[in-house]
Amino acid sequence: MHGVLPGGYWDDEGRLHRQFELTAMTGREEELLVRRDTDSASLVTEVLSRCLRRLGSIAPVTPEVVRGLLVADRQFLLLQLRRVAFGDLVRGSLLCPWPDCGRRVSLEFSLADVPVEEAADHAPVHSMTLSAEARDDGEAACAEVHFRLPDGSDQEDLSGLLADNEAEALTLLLSRCILRIGPYEPPGDQRVAALSPRARAEIEERMERLAPRVEQTMETECAECTRTFLVPFDVQRFFFGDLRAGAALLYREVHHLAFHYHWSEREIMDMARDKRRTYIDVLDDVLLEVQNCGT
Ligand SMILES: [Zn+2]
Repeated sequence: MHGVLPGGYWDDEGRLHRQFELTAMTGREEELLVRRDTDSASLVTEVLSRCLRRLGSIAPVTPEVVRGLLVADRQFLLLQLRRVAFGDLVRGSLLCPWPDCGRRVSLEFSLADVPVEEAADHAPVHSMTLSAEARDDGEAACAEVHFRLPDGSDQEDLSGLLADNEAEALTLLLSRCILRIGPYEPPGDQRVAALSPRARAEIEERMERLAPRVEQTMETECAECTRTFLVPFDVQRFFFGDLRAGAALLYREVHHLAFHYHWSEREIMDMARDKRRTYIDVLDDVLLEVQNCGT
């Protein structure tokens, strides 16, 4: 499938690459995802670099390039992979969070309806001027800050720390993303750590405003009490959850096809999920007919 990233990848020569070509996961990628359940950011990198055929004029797309993709671009690509493998529709059930209701309601939405916001300003590096209140040393020279937006390499390197010490992880993220403060380039960890809380808040707020975004909450209505509420929707967890749920089936399907068609395990694992499913459906029909003839 083809598409356009909400952000895009900047190569070393300053060119932006946004058009992508994605192929469906085969049994190999499904197996990879299912077998390893730790450090999902690096797993996302591995899956995406295997399934991305082309990014702008970049082909093949290496893991290094995928690491350099913005967080929302990676989420966007995961959503597209999920759509190809399992379709657009998401079904589930949950309890209505209104205390006087609390009844089980079914949830159904289309992934095509997940709101995606394009980057407000496509640039490899952004700059901003801190407010006077944010600069507690009053140094006018240090008012200008240059930064890049968080990407896959930040996710990979900081995911462990994020679970242990969120504050420290966020400080580290800032010092990775801030490329210059006033005349200091790079600013050094100490100068970033010395930023006032107000300055940090201003930078973080600007980063959020500039970054592309895949909406991670869905508004839904309770069918019982008709009131609305927000359902959190973590793209990465959701993607892995779906695949792990289908994990037990993967090997059954391989066995089923190998048994009846005499294909090798390698041949079957190289098929995309929908192709595998098509053969299984055909096979089930045939087996049913054979059974009917026999009785
Ligand atoms: Zn309700």
